[in-house]
Parts: sequence; structure tokens; C-alpha cells
Amino acid sequence: MKNNIGKVACFMNLNHPITYIKGVSVARAQVLQAELGVRTCRDLLHLFPFRYIDKTQFYTINQLHQNSAEVQVVGKITGVKTVKQKRGSRLVASFTDGTGTIELVWFKGGKWIKDSLKVNIPYVIYGKLNWYNRMASMAHPEMETVQAYKGKIQMAMQPVYPSTEKLSNKGISNKVLRDIIQNLLQEVYGSISDTLPEYIREDHQLIDKKEAILNIHFPKSQELLAKAQFRLKFEELFFIQIQLLQKKRIRQSKLKGYVFEKVGEEFTNFYENHLPFSLTTAQKRVLKEIRKDVGSGAHMNRLLQGDVGSGKTIVALLSMLLAIDNGYQATIMAPTEILAAQHYNGMVELLKNTTLNVALLTGSTKAKKRREIHAALEEGTLPILIGTHAILEDKVQFKNLGIAIIDEQHRFGVEQRSKLWRKGSKDGVGMIPPHILVMTATPIPRTLAMSVYGDLDVSVIDELPPGRKEVKTVHRYDSHRLKVFKFLKDEIAKGRQVYVVYPLIQESEAMDYKDLKDGYESIAREFPLPNYKISIVHGQMKPADKDYEMERFVKGETQIMVATTVIEVGVNVPNASVMVIESSERFGLSQLHQLRGRVGRGAEQSYCILMSSYKLSADGKTRLQTMVETSDGFKIAEVDLKLRGPGNIMGTQQSGVLNLKIADVVKDTSILYQVRQVAIQVVREDPALTDPKHERLLKTYEELQKKTGIWSNIS
Ligand code: ADP
Ligand code: MG
Repeated sequence: MKNNIGKVACFMNLNHPITYIKGVSVARAQVLQAELGVRTCRDLLHLFPFRYIDKTQFYTINQLHQNSAEVQVVGKITGVKTVKQKRGSRLVASFTDGTGTIELVWFKGGKWIKDSLKVNIPYVIYGKLNWYNRMASMAHPEMETVQAYKGKIQMAMQPVYPSTEKLSNKGISNKVLRDIIQNLLQEVYGSISDTLPEYIREDHQLIDKKEAILNIHFPKSQELLAKAQFRLKFEELFFIQIQLLQKKRIRQSKLKGYVFEKVGEEFTNFYENHLPFSLTTAQKRVLKEIRKDVGSGAHMNRLLQGDVGSGKTIVALLSMLLAIDNGYQATIMAPTEILAAQHYNGMVELLKNTTLNVALLTGSTKAKKRREIHAALEEGTLPILIGTHAILEDKVQFKNLGIAIIDEQHRFGVEQRSKLWRKGSKDGVGMIPPHILVMTATPIPRTLAMSVYGDLDVSVIDELPPGRKEVKTVHRYDSHRLKVFKFLKDEIAKGRQVYVVYPLIQESEAMDYKDLKDGYESIAREFPLPNYKISIVHGQMKPADKDYEMERFVKGETQIMVATTVIEVGVNVPNASVMVIESSERFGLSQLHQLRGRVGRGAEQSYCILMSSYKLSADGKTRLQTMVETSDGFKIAEVDLKLRGPGNIMGTQQSGVLNLKIADVVKDTSILYQVRQVAIQVVREDPALTDPKHERLLKTYEELQKKTGIWSNIS
């Protein structure tokens, strides 16, 4: 048989399982795969160290002191004893170099280690020191006889790999892993081929792949390590961008969309006669982008980002009018009944001088009304439907839904979006999904958007309508509450309305509810009837009751709205000028920003008062300070990203950004910008990557495509 070359393969291939490597038994391979996801030789080469140990330095025992962290010492073992302890025993060896003595300690693997330790033979030991009664000890030291040590090439810096308890229990220590990787590199170094075209490497001064891999594992110098890191980060981010851009290209060229070819009567009539204000430059730009999409014959999947109050609603309406002018229906979906109702009322008001019908469909729509809506949608006599996720129910069938607009998308999951998708209609060949416009007021830092939504089209409204005054924001401790109440009274006396918001954190809903109740009672005492009227809205109320309370506040019948964060998104009461946020240290930055966006919607100066106790964590302090200092949603999002990491920012869970091996979307933003430009250039010049100069690039891309299912989830 030709396959009996056995374990010492002459031509080891990077796709081979790691059992081909000297020192990797089947048992070890299993643990490595289970714990670190390493299966092939290529995987192992890409298991990067997360830090390095500088072992150029040797210490004598009398030089060691309490602050010495990890140290390397040469000496001999003079004796070994087993010390009984409560459970099991530990093994203790005395180790001396003539200047002093330290103890080496093992808690596990006692017998096996005891047999392998040689007394009076020189060893090089390395490890972290523990001090007890001015005696130093080292638990589970890395050790090697001086003879073995001298037989190896010594690297200036040594890699430290990720480890787990299971790995160390199975004897796969960092040293073992290092040796295995060294063996592997010796075998395959010559066959590591580059993934990036030479011209890109030259343009961006990237060292070649081989050298990068060698120096990431066994850096010859700090300088080479830095070059290796840059090269590998560049490569990793580059291929993410290539995948995103390819995905976008394929979507745009393969997925058909309805063509809204004309700007017709409804749009023109509204735009010329009923627009209550002139659009900002940003609104106009975004509208142009949308018109280009829906006119192209490809399917639109666009994300519209715009800070709270930036005026996304009017853009949504004008997009719907485009659909209607071309014979299609349109829908807006909002995450809550309150928001859906508000959109509905807003649209009815905007469209009052037109002949267009609008209907509202939510969970609490009565059966009779519901049936009427269903029928009108199917007949095509109802052009605009606004609602909650009730729109997604199977019974809701459109005659020809041309565009679906999703407001505040983070409340909707992928599954719900695909349901919406299926509300399009058959064109005889296949399904044509409605155009999708997703609107979000949660600014996503640009860098993250590039990695998470790199395949979506993104529009940004980065300008507020004219005449807005910045919301004055202050931080006040609980002990100043009386002064704050006085301030609220002054504002109310001027005819303004006030929000007081309490945190709601799912794990302790009962407690939060109590906070809210207590808060409500103290406010009710401070602001008694008949001078003051108070609304209260929280998550445990029935939708109808919520709406009733909300309605009273919207109409100005109550001056104070005490609420949990249900009012966070979208609610619009222009006369409300003060937002008091209780226990503000418990809110995340994006939530605080959203809440603050509820005020400052009218012509009056508005205020946001962040109440907190004196007990503030460092992060809590940073959050409040950021709120006081800036009102720029994108700046706030950047701080949020730095504080929480990408894992907690919406949308990222489904993306590849969390599986990065070496790059970091927060720290490596400048590389990301650089890489994005390069990738765009490549795809523009050679969309299918078939140019011979992109041969290796294409190969790597195709391999990645086979491997990563993650990309299919994003849009
Ligand atoms: P959001 O982007 O938060 O959804 P809205 O669409 O609700 O913002 O708009 C916020 C407020 O600004 C609304 O009262 C709206 O009528 C008003 N508005 C929107 N665009 C303009 C504009 N170009 N000029 C003046 N006011 C505008
Ligand atoms: Mg809105």
C-alpha cells in the first residue's frame, strides 16, 4: 500500500491532522481539538501565543525578591519528599544553586513526577514564585536538564499559548505545546505559502507568511514580532473584508428586487405640497441612496443609522411613497405597541391631506378590524400598514409588498426578518423579497459597522434638523434629590413635562418594580394632586393600560411620566424638557443616550439629570462623564465599545468579529481602515478574483467560504 509512510510523513501537508506531528498521540490530538479547536496542522500553526516570556535573563536565588514574577534559575535538586495534606499529598523538592534554596512544589501527578526527578543533576527551572515566611516556592515549574536545554535553539522570547485545565491535566503544558509547534514548523516551514498577493505585500510592507508564522511563535526579536503581528492582523482582517465584499457583490448581482422606476404622483405631491419642513442635506443624501437601490433591479438591504431625533421617519415615509407610486404596498414594523401607534399617528398626520390609507395592526387590534385589514391588504386597497411583529403572522398576506421598513432593528431577530422576507411575492421564476430598510438609532462605531455590516449598505443621517438645542446634561448624587425636585417644579411651572426613569434589569424584575413603586410614591408625595398629575408606565402593565397612561402624557394631561425603560425607544413628546434617570450608573451608555434622546425634541432648552449613588465603579463613572461631556451618538458608541468590548455590542454575536485570532476590532482600528481600502480596491478591480495575480487570494477565500457558516447569518 502506498499509504504506509506512517507517522513520519516525508511531505507533511498543512491539511493533515495533527497526529502527523511528532509528539502528538491520538489522545493528545483529541484533547487539542476538543479544547482549542485544533484539528489540522494549519490550525495549529494559527494557534497564536497570547503573550511572550522573555527568557534571556537568568537569576540566582539570592537575587530573588517578593516582586520577582516569573523567573529562570539554574540549580540542582537536593532532596524530594511527599507531604501529606488534608486531601491527597503534595510533592516538595529542595532546589539550590549555591546562593540559596527554594522549594519546588507539585500538587498533581506526584508519583509520576517523583520518579522522573533526578537529584544532583543541573536543571534549568522556570516559573512563578510564591512567597511564604520569606521562603520562595515555585509550583509546577517548567524544568529541563541543562544538558537538554543546551541541545535546543534558544529563542529570545518564548510563546505562551492558551491553556485549559483539561489540557494541563492531560500533560499538554505550554512547554509541550511549544515543542509540538516547533516540530511542526521544522517539518512544514518550506511549504507555508503566502495568501496575499505580492503587490499588496510590497505596498503595505508586509513580511511574508512563512516569516510571520515563524516569528509569531518564536520571535527572533521584538521588532520581528511586531512585523509578524502586523502582517497576520492585516491578513485576518483582509479576508473578513474580502468575504463581506464578495457577499455583498453576490447579493447585488444575484438577488433580484422590484424596480421602482418612477417618481410618481404621491411622492411628488407630498414632497411639494405637504412636507412640513425642508429636508436636511443628510436626509436628502440618504433618500438618493435609497432611490438608487430600489431603481437598480437588485434587492435593497439597507441599514439606516441616524441618531435619535435625526429624522428617520420622514425618510421612511418618502421611501414608502416611492413604492406606492410604482404599484406596491409598504409596511413599517416597530418593536412595541407604543412605537407602532406613534408611527401610525405620525403617518396619519403627515398624510392627512392625501388620499392614502394607513392602518395599524398590533397584538391588541380587535378581531373585526383585523379581518378588514387582512382583506384590504390582500386586495391591495390598503397601501400602508404599520404595526408590531403582528405583521409577521402567516395570516397577514400582502397583494404585493414592495418595501418593508423595520424601525429600531435591534429588537428583531434574524428569524423574524426572514419571515418578513417571505412576504414578498412569486414572480413566476422565484421569490422576490420586498426591499428592506432597517432603521436604527443605536449608532454603531464605524469600525464595528465595517466588520459586522460590511456586506450591508449603510446610510447615515449624521446631521440633526436645524434649531435643535443640545440637551444640558448633569450628574447629581442622590443626596441632591430635593434640589432636583425643585428644578422639576420650576420647569413644570413653565408648562414643560418631565420624565423620571427607573432601571429595569431582567434578573431582578421584582426588585426593580419595587424601586419604581417607591420612586413613584415619593414623587407622588412631592408632587401632589391637584397641581400635579403623574403617569406611570412599566413592563408589567397591560398594553391597553400602558397606552392609556402614555396617551395622557402625550396629550399633556399629566406633567410627569414615571417609567421604566419601556419609553426608551422612539417615543416623541416634544413638550417634555427634562429627563431624570434614576440609578443612572446601572444603565449602559447606549441606553442612557437613547433615554436622553426623548427630550430636546421641541424648541425649548432641555435637560438630562443623571442621578446616582456615591458608590460608582470606574466604568460607571466613565459612562456618566461621557454623557455629560458629549451628545454625539457615535462618540458615545466608541466609548461603549472600549468599555464593553465588541462582544456586547448589538449585532456582533452573529458576526466573525468575535472569532478573531489575532486582530482586535477595538485596538486595531487603523489596520482595519487600511485593510478595508485595500479589499475594496481588489474587489473593484477584479470582482471575481480571477486575475492570476489573485490566485492565492482566491484559493484562501474559497477555503474560508467552505469553513465559515457564520457569514450566512448576518443579513
Ligand atoms: P428619529 O430619527 O429619532 O426617528 P424623527 O423622524 O422622529 O427622528 O424626527 C424627530 C423630529 O424631528 C420630528 O418631530 C420630526 O418632525 C422632526 N424633523 C425631522 N426632519 C426634520 C427636518 N428636516 N427639519 C425639521 N424638523 C425635522
Ligand atoms: Mg424614530
